[in-house]
Amino acid sequence: MIKFGPSGNSESFAREGYKHTKEMPEWLSKRNLEIFEYSFGRGILISAETATELGKIAKANNIEITAHAPYFINFAALEQEKIENSYNYILNSVKIEKCFGGNRVVFHSGAQMKQDRDFAFNKVKAGVENTMQKLLDAGYDDVYICPETMGKQGQIGTVQEVIDLCKIHKNIIPCVDFGHVNSLLQGALKTTDDYKRIVLDPIIDQLGYEKARIMHVHFSKIQYGAKGEIKHLTFEDTEYGPEFEPLAVALKEYKLEPYILSESAGTQAEDAAEMKRIFNSL
Ligand SMILES: [Zn+2]
Repeated sequence: MIKFGPSGNSESFAREGYKHTKEMPEWLSKRNLEIFEYSFGRGILISAETATELGKIAKANNIEITAHAPYFINFAALEQEKIENSYNYILNSVKIEKCFGGNRVVFHSGAQMKQDRDFAFNKVKAGVENTMQKLLDAGYDDVYICPETMGKQGQIGTVQEVIDLCKIHKNIIPCVDFGHVNSLLQGALKTTDDYKRIVLDPIIDQLGYEKARIMHVHFSKIQYGAKGEIKHLTFEDTEYGPEFEPLAVALKEYKLEPYILSESAGTQAEDAAEMKRIFNSL
């Protein structure tokens, strides 16, 4: 089933007087949303106990929690220590995601640094292969890890690079951040055909229909410059895009059922609800 929800807390959550993420599942449920992405961006600060408690509350409200691994991950890092840390960031994210009762962890795979692109990508690929093996060795054979398409030229994560990482194992599925793709390609995502040709068709052709059907999606409008992503915007933006409706048309036509998270700047829950409204109106 296709699901919609916010990544992180909307500003309106605090404005309405709510303080704790434990109050979030009920708040989302009242807005007819189905998922919540918990970001470990600056580190995994939640304990296994608290995560288990939050997971139970989420389940009672029919909210599924996905996790975003820390931003520090870089499998193309120059220092071996940073690569070792990257394994641990994903393993620990998976551990907490299991406490949430969920089965998806999104991650940024790496940055090119001053290395040749192919060289950097091959380091990332080896890092993801090792991560997958470590996850299996630890008994985590039922969790999807989702490398994300990135918005800046210096980051590893073009659509093709993410597809190639997903070829490593059946438990690796793409996280397509359409705002990132649009930023990197200078506004290339405009029509339904653009969404199909640039993103959906290559994924279906190379990874098969099932991985495309259940893929993970981040969607927000993003300001970009010559080198790609500058900053996340809200659906109020009319200049940068991309627009959700042409994508929704493609998702319906292809019968895809991704988890779609809004990463709008402060209006994530509102914009997730708007995407759900658009999708259901087609
Ligand atoms: Zn991300």
